[in-house]
Amino acid sequence: MGAQGPDQVVIVGGGTAGWMTASYLKAAFEDRISITLVESGKIGTIGVGEATFSDIRHFFEFLNLREEDWMPACNATYKLAVRFQDWRRPGHHFYHPFEQLRSVNGFPLTDWWLNGGPGERFDQDCFVMASLCDAGRSPRYLDGTLLDQEARAVTDEPSGLTMSEHQGKTQFPYAYHFEAALLAKYLAAYAVDRGVRHIVDEVQDVRLDSRGWIDHIVTKEHGEIRGDLYIDCTGFRGVLLNKALEVPFMSYQDTLPNDSAVALQVPLDMKKLGVRPYTTATAQRAGWIWTIPLFGRIGTGYVYAKDYCTPEEAERTLREFVGPEAESVEANHIRMRIGRSAQSWKNNCVAVGLSSGFVEPLESTGIFFIHHAIEQLVKYFPAADWNPKTRDMYNAAVAHVMDGVREFLAVHYRSAARDDTQYWKDAKTRPVPDALEERLERWKAQLPDSENIFPYYHGLPPYSYMCILLGMGGIPLRSSPAVGLSDDTAAQKEFQAIRGKAQHLVDALPTHYDYFAEMRS
Ligand code: FAD
Repeated sequence: MGAQGPDQVVIVGGGTAGWMTASYLKAAFEDRISITLVESGKIGTIGVGEATFSDIRHFFEFLNLREEDWMPACNATYKLAVRFQDWRRPGHHFYHPFEQLRSVNGFPLTDWWLNGGPGERFDQDCFVMASLCDAGRSPRYLDGTLLDQEARAVTDEPSGLTMSEHQGKTQFPYAYHFEAALLAKYLAAYAVDRGVRHIVDEVQDVRLDSRGWIDHIVTKEHGEIRGDLYIDCTGFRGVLLNKALEVPFMSYQDTLPNDSAVALQVPLDMKKLGVRPYTTATAQRAGWIWTIPLFGRIGTGYVYAKDYCTPEEAERTLREFVGPEAESVEANHIRMRIGRSAQSWKNNCVAVGLSSGFVEPLESTGIFFIHHAIEQLVKYFPAADWNPKTRDMYNAAVAHVMDGVREFLAVHYRSAARDDTQYWKDAKTRPVPDALEERLERWKAQLPDSENIFPYYHGLPPYSYMCILLGMGGIPLRSSPAVGLSDDTAAQKEFQAIRGKAQHLVDALPTHYDYFAEMRS
């Protein structure tokens, strides 16, 4: 233990969580801490987390990594939105874009849209990004210049802020898709280069001292490994936090029943087919299918509830959805642990990643949880006295993020108009947290705003809730009476400006494929 506090860190697990944590802590503290990362050569990583939140840019910024360097190495592409396909009815789609919602005379544009928007689609009328997604455009010009986002605060300049400090200030116009295994490899090289000791071995035992704190871990071939602070990145196994320290896991499954997935990695001719600049979530009979376009292949998978669908049926549905390209591709069946650990930090052990908590990847929140946890760990890094208040504040922040996202996902299912199978019928009556039940009633009277969504930071601003409610179509919404009584000239002008801007950008920006072909040339 150093004079400042724990300076010997042992990370167990070499998936996205392990390597993101190792590289971030090295970037933060350099050689003032020593880090050992132990990962099993036999137990694989989950390997499917490939779509992100726009805030992930602060992670790469913190590590001083440039897109031109890491993106080609990870077959990465841009993500402007999540496209929800068939959630309202077959053939219907809408986008949840990375774009702040404009307001006119103190009311969000969606309020004016409900009162008499120019078209049928709120996403196209209120956001520029929906048109760019439909047209398959890159958010950057071929010379790398970022599209002229109306939000003047959006620039390429590093902000020096963490993502939670950034919340509400600006909305960067895109996130990334990347190959999970390649990103872990890239970050591993970054971390090892900066002095992280990498051990490939299996942790067989975790020994506690008389207080119940971790004293050391026992590996198969490298014997005992000791540290001050242990970080559990062992995925759904939760080897340190859940197993050794016996922290219980709190399931969210009453609200979110999807507990299984089957995934495929399908190589495609992107030159011929193009690369979509968004993640797609396509509703199915007992869940939904994700499609994540990378440079050279798609990652796709069916997330379903096993109470409504067998693994065989899910795999068959997924293969039919993808088509002949999937024929020779092996399927990966995954059981998901949905919920969170009661505490993510106990004694001298902090869980980051799937060991801490997870919800189905409908809004790509897994890597966001990891990023958030690491930022909080740096913020609340323990001192020599291990003040329990620091740990409590960390645990509260992590729990709020996951509980908030749980609510946000529950809103998707409650508000989806689709009701053609038992799964979708049951989605309308499944229990949700009491506070959400009340919020849903309020949103029928007034669109969501910062005063009436989940009250703690969870990465999702009010406009995200509006997109889901307006897009899913199953909950009656109305505009504020004041909007109906007001002159709407300024709002109509704003709609026109958005349409003009979208047309200009669709004409001027390169296709998403062309942008990456150029970057890689
Ligand atoms: P894992 O990848 O499971 O890694 C666990 C590590 O621990 C491995 O290195 C393993 O070897 C090691 N380990 C385990 N036991 C031991 C032991 N005894 N000794 C030594 N080492 C051990 N997130 C997103 O942000 N976007 C998405 O689109 C997305 N899609 C997903 C789809 C599905 C179906 C699932 C299940 C998850 C998805 N996620 C997504 C979440 C994302 O995949 C994870 O958050 C992310 O990969 C982090 O995983 P991890 O590192 O915690 O665990």
